[in-house]
Amino acid sequence: MRIDVATLFPEMCEAVLSESIIGRARKNGCFAVQCWNIRDYTLDKHRRVDDVPYGGGRGMVMQPDPIYRCYAAVCEQTASKPHCIYMSPKGSVLTQKHALDLAQLPHIFILCGHYEGVDQRVLDEIVDEEISIGDYVLTGGELPAMVLIDTVARMLPGVLPEACCFEEESHFHGLLEYPQYSRPAVWHDREVPPVLLSGHHQNIADWRYAQSLAVTEANRSDLYHDYLKKK
Ligand code: SAM
Repeated sequence: MRIDVATLFPEMCEAVLSESIIGRARKNGCFAVQCWNIRDYTLDKHRRVDDVPYGGGRGMVMQPDPIYRCYAAVCEQTASKPHCIYMSPKGSVLTQKHALDLAQLPHIFILCGHYEGVDQRVLDEIVDEEISIGDYVLTGGELPAMVLIDTVARMLPGVLPEACCFEEESHFHGLLEYPQYSRPAVWHDREVPPVLLSGHHQNIADWRYAQSLAVTEANRSDLYHDYLKKK
């Protein structure tokens, strides 16, 4: 998979994408990411990419032309028409299921807005879908884009050691994960549940499933009732 990110702050994205599991997976060639500075595509001699909103109001709006020219350069360089996503608080809220669908695509272009947002005309022209990372507003689309890339990339072949690493976690099958424990067996007088020390695989699996149900019911009754309905 290839991911292109159009942003006014490419260094911010590169810093996140070069670290840890994602940075290693990029180096190992599991997927490719390139960050593009939208400012490199403005024809304005002062490198401006934003202007005041028509109709008045506070703040600045990102102009359509530099964004379009950046998108066109990516299409030309890669000889493809990527699936184009605009990170936006007005988009549909990202889910594990949607991230899994996106992980099947060969090429994604992610547009990060800033300031008051982006001129609607370029969104109408190039964007296939708008994705939000939650019902709140951030200053820019860079952190949302990093969230999207992280959740998509960890489901690509080779990024995690095995598919079960992401399939057996919260949200994949509709439930939240059971509690996890590691050494020591007793810490601050708190004991690890004895079943986990029993070595009895079926009992451990049954305990974990019961715990998943209980945690989901307690923390996210919406997910719990959806899960029971679909079961
Ligand atoms: N004026 C916009 C509105 O009210 O919907 C908010 C603009 S926000 C300050 C600037 C940029 O941050 C947006 O263009 C978008 O790219 C990004 N952004 C902010 N919150 C987001 C969220 N919850 N999910 C995805 N992107 C978000």
